[in-house]
Amino acid sequence: MKPSIQSRTSRTILTKGSGFLNGYSHTLNPYAGCAFGCSYCYVRRMPIALFREEDWGEWVDIKENGVALLKKEVPKAKKKGKVSIFMSSSTDPYQPIEYKTELTRNLLEAMIEETPDFLFLQTRSPLVTRDIDLLKKLGNNVLVSMTVETDLESVRKIFAPQAPPIPARLKALKELRDAGIPVQAAIAPLLPCSEEFPEKLHQTVNRVTLDDFFMGDGSGGKRTEQLGIRKQFEEHGLSDWYDRKAYLKIKKRLLEKYSEGNIFISQEGFYPPE
Ligand code: SF4
Repeated sequence: MKPSIQSRTSRTILTKGSGFLNGYSHTLNPYAGCAFGCSYCYVRRMPIALFREEDWGEWVDIKENGVALLKKEVPKAKKKGKVSIFMSSSTDPYQPIEYKTELTRNLLEAMIEETPDFLFLQTRSPLVTRDIDLLKKLGNNVLVSMTVETDLESVRKIFAPQAPPIPARLKALKELRDAGIPVQAAIAPLLPCSEEFPEKLHQTVNRVTLDDFFMGDGSGGKRTEQLGIRKQFEEHGLSDWYDRKAYLKIKKRLLEKYSEGNIFISQEGFYPPE
């Protein structure tokens, strides 16, 4: 089902970093709503989603004046101190509508003119490779973090059927890395995966962040419980993976490929550099 898309005028584009993202001065969401509609998305439990008539994943608002706002807000914020931006915390900046609007691309262009001290770009879409030319211009002021929750398409299709296929994400990560863009794979939230997952990642990126429903949903796992994700695991015979300690098993396997310093756990993997 195609989401209903609307253009809206926003009052601001930068929001003060808080909670899990309190290491950032700001978060930036070019869109409200997200067409990927992942079943475990904690934004489903937030007011922005709860007060909408349509279900999460079925609506997207385009912040049509986002670029004009950013051009005003970044210089203003810079006068107050370091500007570190997390894009995006409650939407995917490279969801399908971005092919048409190029809003995220235009925001990056604006950031090249007024560069923040740091930009953390979180996505699960290979469309991010379209903007390699701009990302290169941001140099070490950017880190692209690509969500790769599992290496198994069968698992991805249970929990996030509308999200881009895993092989396309791994290919995109490699393309970014080869272009010299700082990247990481974010196994977040950890989903059931194969024994070969660490090796597949190792062929692609040097840095990995590992997070799960219990550490990373901003409520110690309560929001995920409310979403009924435990039931999804049970229905597919995957209950062993819905466990606070499951990430340790994967961390152990990752350590066979990566040094400890290149594996980040939960919040530390999403933090800006000191
Ligand atoms: S891509 Fe991110 S914001 Fe979009 S539905 Fe999935 S988890 Fe939520």
